[in-house]
Amino acid sequence: MDYLGVVLLVAVVAIAFVVIARSSVGQGRRARAEQARQLALATRAAEADVNGFGDEVSRLAVLADDDPAAADLYDLVTALHSRALESLREARQPDELCQVTEILEEGRWAAARLAARAAGEPMPSRRPPCFFNPGHGPSTRNVTWEHRSVPACAADAARVEAGADPYIRTVERDDMRVPYWEGGPAYAGWARGYYSSWRGNRLVADIALTKV
Ligand SMILES: [Zn+2]
Repeated sequence: MDYLGVVLLVAVVAIAFVVIARSSVGQGRRARAEQARQLALATRAAEADVNGFGDEVSRLAVLADDDPAAADLYDLVTALHSRALESLREARQPDELCQVTEILEEGRWAAARLAARAAGEPMPSRRPPCFFNPGHGPSTRNVTWEHRSVPACAADAARVEAGADPYIRTVERDDMRVPYWEGGPAYAGWARGYYSSWRGNRLVADIALTKV
């Protein structure tokens, strides 16, 4: 190879390196932007749930008066609300929102026990969150919906059994509102956290077949 050939070869190799470096920088930037977008979407969903739980905590405050056992439950509920808020603030990846919803699931269960105690009703058995919207809190029974057995809150179970549509939680995806199980990877951690204590349980066996 003559001198000119060597110079040309070096130039081609150098240009190739610049092109590769630029495209990998671009890919890294795009991946970070996509992750930030997904985190913002999932944070919005988790924030709505933490706020909904906060409203419930405020309503429960009066129930804890003059009953030490109820007061203990109320302390647990408020501690779990604080932990959920903290986890929400600390989440840096969309998947980390699973910690928030796992705490919320436990919190809603403690809140249901407190409400039952205050009403003088028997303690409810622990059940997975309502499939149609885990933010509704613990389910009361399973219902058949679209050929699946899914846990449902009392209100959604009554709607489904009456032939009406349940109140399905929708989320934002590509500027549209879709059921959360069609929300894509942004919401995977958020949804998974609600059911992480129920993995392998027969009550949620049919849910595992969906894309939650
Ligand atoms: Zn429900």
